[in-house]
Amino acid sequence: MKSYLASRIEQIRPSGIRRFFDLANNMEGIISLGVGEPDFTTPWSICHASIQSIEQGFTSYTEIEGQIELRKEISSYMSNRFKVSYSPTTEIIVTVGGSQALDSSLRAIINPGDEVMIVEPSYVAYKALVSMAGGNPIPIVTSFEDEFKPHPEQIKQAISPRTKAIILCFPNNPTGSLLNQQELEAIAEIIVEHDLLVITDEIYAELTYEKDTFYSIASIKGMRDRTILVSGFSKAFAMTGWRLGFICAPEWLTQPILKVLQHTIISASTITQYGAIEALKNGQEYIVEMRNSYRKRRNFIVKQLNEIGLHCHLPEGAFYVFPSIRQTGQTSEQFAEKLLIRYKVAVVPGNAFGDSGEGYIRCSYATSIEKLQVAMERIKKFVGDVK
Ligand code: PLP
Repeated sequence: MKSYLASRIEQIRPSGIRRFFDLANNMEGIISLGVGEPDFTTPWSICHASIQSIEQGFTSYTEIEGQIELRKEISSYMSNRFKVSYSPTTEIIVTVGGSQALDSSLRAIINPGDEVMIVEPSYVAYKALVSMAGGNPIPIVTSFEDEFKPHPEQIKQAISPRTKAIILCFPNNPTGSLLNQQELEAIAEIIVEHDLLVITDEIYAELTYEKDTFYSIASIKGMRDRTILVSGFSKAFAMTGWRLGFICAPEWLTQPILKVLQHTIISASTITQYGAIEALKNGQEYIVEMRNSYRKRRNFIVKQLNEIGLHCHLPEGAFYVFPSIRQTGQTSEQFAEKLLIRYKVAVVPGNAFGDSGEGYIRCSYATSIEKLQVAMERIKKFVGDVK
């Protein structure tokens, strides 16, 4: 029956994260540092706004691009928080999570065989989404020594006549690294020189741990007109299950993306959109609280891992740490599998994020300090065993 299946889907490797998630789900007493989602529940005022919208009977479709009240809130939020300005009527689209924002953006710009550069190790979906849209993913491999930041020279060398775009994700999943203004400007210069597009995945923009260190490539001169900015509510507002994200882009890009939405989702969930309006209006204090808590956990886990001998940088953003496990002599899959089975701690093997992730594991610190403490004790014992 395989001949009935689409070959481009057959070629996609199942996510390495899911495999470990499924294994862990079937075991008792697991501490999971595996899944990339906040351990907080969504703040109550956001839930309440959604409940009220149901009570008031707001249960129909919204505009394809999302309700105007939400788009206005997104517009003010993005300009106040990140100094990028987008028109709520023509330049903002509400999507089903950052995931669908990425998918619809790629589908709107890729022609068969177009190349899209991806900074590796990378979020698991990018490669698959580019392939599903008919493009060819081209890895830009970063290293521990460079704090997992791409060199402008590497990007230049990866560009071919088929290159259409680059996907950037800073703060990064899985490494937690962040590019500063100058580093982004150096990349932007190449993008402009070669007339390319940028998809900037800024889903972790709220989660940086030094004061106001996030800078959007969209705010660099010459970039706005060639940038699709993707973000969402999952990480910053602890709303993963609500499935809400958004795109900010110039009108020449939002128009084709809207065509994709019209024929795939019609509109994002109405009830969820009401919660999101409340999140943007009154949610900043929750973000500050959660960010402070993640910062404490980050400092704790990074110190512990380095003491155990699993060397890692202090990540500047997101809620992941990406330590090297090379000195244990295990592959990242062996390390993750044995750790899970023998000591009941779930982490993600680095090769799930591309071949360049081999030799590393991803630990999410979006879990309580108490659980992190136990997890670190178990990892310490495990590393002692396998050495
Ligand atoms: N982008 C990155 C870098 C992510 O880590 C994730 C989720 O883990 C997403 C996008 C998708 O998020 P969502 O679809 O929940 O908004």
